[in-house]
Amino acid sequence: MRQKTLFIFGAGASKADRAPLQNELFSGIFKLLEGVKNYQDIQLNQAFIQELKDFLYKLYPINEEPKNNIIYPTFEEVMGLIHFAIIRDESFMGVHYKNLSGYLDSLITLIANILDKKLKKAPGINKKFIMYLYESFKRKQKSIDDNEVINEFINQNLFLNVNYDILLDSALYKLVKKFKKGVDYCEEIHNPYPQKKKIRLFKPHGSLNWLLCKSCGKFILGGERKIAMSYYNPISTNSDPNIQCDFCETILSPLIVPPSFFKELHNKLIRNVLINLENHLKEVENLVFIGYSFPEADLHLKYLFKKAQLLGGFRKILLINKKDKDKKKEDKPYYYNVKRSFPGVDLIDLTYEIPLPNGLEEDSIEAIVEKISEKLF
Ligand SMILES: [Zn+2]
Repeated sequence: MRQKTLFIFGAGASKADRAPLQNELFSGIFKLLEGVKNYQDIQLNQAFIQELKDFLYKLYPINEEPKNNIIYPTFEEVMGLIHFAIIRDESFMGVHYKNLSGYLDSLITLIANILDKKLKKAPGINKKFIMYLYESFKRKQKSIDDNEVINEFINQNLFLNVNYDILLDSALYKLVKKFKKGVDYCEEIHNPYPQKKKIRLFKPHGSLNWLLCKSCGKFILGGERKIAMSYYNPISTNSDPNIQCDFCETILSPLIVPPSFFKELHNKLIRNVLINLENHLKEVENLVFIGYSFPEADLHLKYLFKKAQLLGGFRKILLINKKDKDKKKEDKPYYYNVKRSFPGVDLIDLTYEIPLPNGLEEDSIEAIVEKISEKLF
């Protein structure tokens, strides 16, 4: 029977904790390469910077534009072009194809570095939201036994996060650790899925707290530690990563699916996450989109949601996003992308019912959770 709720956290949810949005990431990377102050304390090797600069400015000579006229390319476009060249087994003039996958790795290294740096002093908005959500859920339960309440919370609420950062992960760990429970990333296939009594968090684009041995398949979970940085930090200083699998001694790899129109979803772990998400979606009745605009670049997710919808449908969809006083909600992607994907489903946009303009932010959490609780719990 469908009765569960899936919370979908997009870049806007991490933005609340000061993570850059996708479209800000690329300007962030150019600023980082140019040594702009804000990013100066990220350790980067000069040869690494120069190589990446040469490559990016070859494809996008924006350094020749007047300073006030620069429009940065999107991440999806740059990654998409590199992917496309790799798939077609071709080079760009002056950029040999054998170097292309190295540039992909370098760009992801920079994203990881920027996220790592920017989120060191995260104000804890994700944590506060999860705590309030749980407390509000608890107030609506008949039982007053803490263990029963957390089990019911875990059973009824699933989480999907398209971000690489571990803001939501840390928030969920903080909640469940009090009850001696963990987070289940659903990276293994079970049929039927066991009641592990762990809170389920799907990360279909990978996570900075994951490392994987691509030789023996061992998966290492860093919990609240961004263990993937032990792979990325050496790359940015032009040395080789030295993190070995303790079983087969192969160098471990991170698992980050770059933002691109051609997402590589072949990795076994990512495939498992998507298969498990598809299976769990059959039990989901309500969707809550937080800071996520359901873009076309995430067609693989649109596909799974469409299949689930045809199998019985969703009852309610709640939207929480940033207000834009110059635009009607009907003209905002977060609204119309969802509206046109789920015709006939009760779509409740809470964005304009929240007193503050930025969606998820410190002083609006209470109001947001109250609205969610009113509609769902
Ligand atoms: Zn191994």
